[in-house]
Amino acid sequence: MKIGVLAETFEGERRVALVPAGIARLAGPAFDVVVRRGPGPAADFCDDAYREAGAVLEADRGSVLRGADVLVAVQAPAVEDIARLKVGTVTISFLQPATQAAVVEAPANGGVTAFSLELLPRISRAQSMDALSSQASLAGYKGVLMAAARLGKFFPMLMTAAGTIPPARVLVLGAGVAGLQAIATARRLGAVVEAYDVRPAVREEVRSLGATFLELELEAEEGQGGYASEQSEEFLTRQRELLTDRVGGSDVGIATPAEAGRRPPVLVTAPMVKRMRRGSVVVDLASETGGNCELTQPGRVIEVDGVWVDGTTNVPSTMALHASQLYSRNVTNLLEHLTDGGVVRIDFDDEITRGACVTHGGEVVNERARQMMRTPQETAAK
Ligand code: NAD
Repeated sequence: MKIGVLAETFEGERRVALVPAGIARLAGPAFDVVVRRGPGPAADFCDDAYREAGAVLEADRGSVLRGADVLVAVQAPAVEDIARLKVGTVTISFLQPATQAAVVEAPANGGVTAFSLELLPRISRAQSMDALSSQASLAGYKGVLMAAARLGKFFPMLMTAAGTIPPARVLVLGAGVAGLQAIATARRLGAVVEAYDVRPAVREEVRSLGATFLELELEAEEGQGGYASEQSEEFLTRQRELLTDRVGGSDVGIATPAEAGRRPPVLVTAPMVKRMRRGSVVVDLASETGGNCELTQPGRVIEVDGVWVDGTTNVPSTMALHASQLYSRNVTNLLEHLTDGGVVRIDFDDEITRGACVTHGGEVVNERARQMMRTPQETAAK
């Protein structure tokens, strides 16, 4: 079975889907790994490292595509690339069905079996394949460093001969995977950290990291399986009212909720940003899908009345080495789950396969993906 790996073409994408260590694990009697020359920007991912790990290096992009039984990628493969795959090829990547309907329809039309890592069920059995989590963790860490680099203040409290410096105050909104990593990072740097999440179950995790859990007088809608459900507009309005002073009093706000397929909730408003001291920073880790701050401009860092609003997109890609290593491990684990002795076995009775497989046999076979692809008008008409 031939596994193809291409250099990513999406603008700004520096990650690679399979690192040499992942290839060393896969390459052997069951799998041949064919890599388009020069897939990664980091020294560890140079052609020689791939060759040593057992990959075949191919100069021609088209040959990798035409020969692949499985194509692994970080970003959704481009429609032109999908058109060059054989019928029955399996692709594993992020697909973003909510915003990239054409990229989902292309494999369906071409008879490609496409897996979307965003749709992997978040069950314990799938944790080692969960690329959303591995990448969110990097984003939480880097988001805090981005804020610290921009803030004209120390994070820790310092007692110096020239006077005492109070610690920076950091507010983390959403204590999921990215949020918990942001809290831990801000604490390690010595900031005083507060965090809020609609799921009271995370209270203890927040406290165990040395942060204060903000208690707001709000009754959140219970989600399923430990996840937050979408909150009503009334809830969000009240939440914003209750958060206004907390955001206004922070030096740094890190906003994280970004559930796949939903518009992120607006948690930070323009008046809240206006209340922050000049020089403060808001890092919006949900910027890619619309943002948690109403001022966010995806892909840009802007200054509003002296406050920075950082809407950098694809934050994990700024840490391409570890992001690729973790992603690669997620992909190889999923690949091993889907194959038996080097042959792909698509078993729709399996929850992981059923949850993450989006197209198969010429059709979109995933109801969640179908819902994400619907426009709001289509959803309303249903
Ligand atoms: P996410 O990015 O959708 O949300 C991040 C956090 O924001 C969540 O904790 C959510 O409760 C919170 N949130 C949502 N709306 C909010 C609002 N209006 N105000 C404040 N906070 C809000 O989710 P995620 O981080 O990808 O995952 C959420 C949780 O799922 C994790 O904490 C984890 O416990 C669980 N999880 C389980 C598995 C698994 O078992 N395989 C894998 C990953 C995550």
